[in-house]
Amino acid sequence: MKLLNFNNVSAAGFRNRGRKKLYLATFGCQMNEYDSQRIAQILHEKYVLTSEPDNADLILVNTCSIREKAENKVYSLVGRLKKFKKQKPGLIIGIAGCVAQQEGDRLLKRLPFIDLVFGPQCIYGLPDMLKHVENGMGAVLQTELKHDFLIPPVTAPLPEPNPVQAFVTIMQGCDNFCAFCVVPYVRGREVSRPSEDILAEISQILDEGVKEVTLLGQNVNSFGKKIGATHSFPGLLRMVAETPDLERLRFTTSHPKDISLDLMKCFRDLDTLCEHLHLPVQSGSTTVLKRMNRHYTRDQYLAIVDKLKSFCPDITLTTDLIVGFPGETDRDFKDTISLLKTVEFDQIFAFKYSPRPLTRAARFDDHIPEEIKTERLKAVLELQKEIGLMRYKSLEGRKEEILVEGISKKNPEELRGRTRGNHVVNFPGPQELIGKFITVKIIKACYHSLRGKTLIH
Ligand code: SF4
Repeated sequence: MKLLNFNNVSAAGFRNRGRKKLYLATFGCQMNEYDSQRIAQILHEKYVLTSEPDNADLILVNTCSIREKAENKVYSLVGRLKKFKKQKPGLIIGIAGCVAQQEGDRLLKRLPFIDLVFGPQCIYGLPDMLKHVENGMGAVLQTELKHDFLIPPVTAPLPEPNPVQAFVTIMQGCDNFCAFCVVPYVRGREVSRPSEDILAEISQILDEGVKEVTLLGQNVNSFGKKIGATHSFPGLLRMVAETPDLERLRFTTSHPKDISLDLMKCFRDLDTLCEHLHLPVQSGSTTVLKRMNRHYTRDQYLAIVDKLKSFCPDITLTTDLIVGFPGETDRDFKDTISLLKTVEFDQIFAFKYSPRPLTRAARFDDHIPEEIKTERLKAVLELQKEIGLMRYKSLEGRKEEILVEGISKKNPEELRGRTRGNHVVNFPGPQELIGKFITVKIIKACYHSLRGKTLIH
């Protein structure tokens, strides 16, 4: 898990007409990033973003509880914020997101200097919550979880006009109850947004200059199922792909059990849809997948990969993997290793299993010793290092169109762009290229990125 927005929030994009300062730290997934964007939009009339917690009037920490390590990081950060409250007694500190939803009142008891605790669905009530605290009426706890919750339409501009990319949430929550996952308990049941709201939000951000849109949901493939929408996710993709001025389209995350032939064909048919699919496999063992409640087998997953490659031979595949799930045997783990060798993902996000409160797997009685989990994680990461490098090396010498996203994270003298296949390319070039499409030649493959040379701009 990364700590997001610590360094990249700024006052840019809002004229500061005497507004107060909001420091907004985001942990976790893109859904949390989107929620943070919404928080900044909801508060934009009164608050301007700052990257300095010590000059903030309001500090909000948007938290993630997907893994134990992420949760511990939140407690560590929030503990460190206490000193700011001592320095500035009027400062308001709030905890949002999945840890807030999961822990609720326990957070207020454990961290009594906190003023606000609110779950992901409650961000829209923030102005009223703030009034309550400002009027000296005490701390606020809001963790109501409605199963028919609908994300309201956007009415404010993006907090930081971004010439490059934006996320748009198309659905919220999840009904799948994978045995290891806390999401259905902290984000509620799956609810899709009306497609007209989604299309209106996309038109708005494209008007603000965005080039690339990523549609977000815990399981985008089941979009529309519960609202009886006239079109499924591929239908929505086709409508979005036709939006004028949209240059690149991506989506995440896809559950393998809900991927349809029609969706796979979109990679062949839609020019704006980038050739990258993040398809979490979680394990290469059918036995483990069954215990995880994933509703697909190893063979079904491999058949999906074959079919996808038949429609889009150049597609980049990435995945999520859990090692050391309760009951995972050496044989099961070997199945995971062999699946990695068969599919040859460009990148994997692999983690040791950690029990999460409320989940079914936390109550299983055959947990794997920590040292075995550590060994298995090391083994998959070492294997993937080789596979990833081989995949990246296959791009050497190729000409690729990239969208220039900003300054390189490795070298402030260089720029960073992204191919349609989602590979990061670092290259020397002037800052005026940020937000533009250019062609580069790939000159060297590294473990998680490529080096390029500008050809045309
Ligand atoms: S599909 Fe499974 S892993 Fe993904 S959010 Fe839903 S319950 Fe969690």
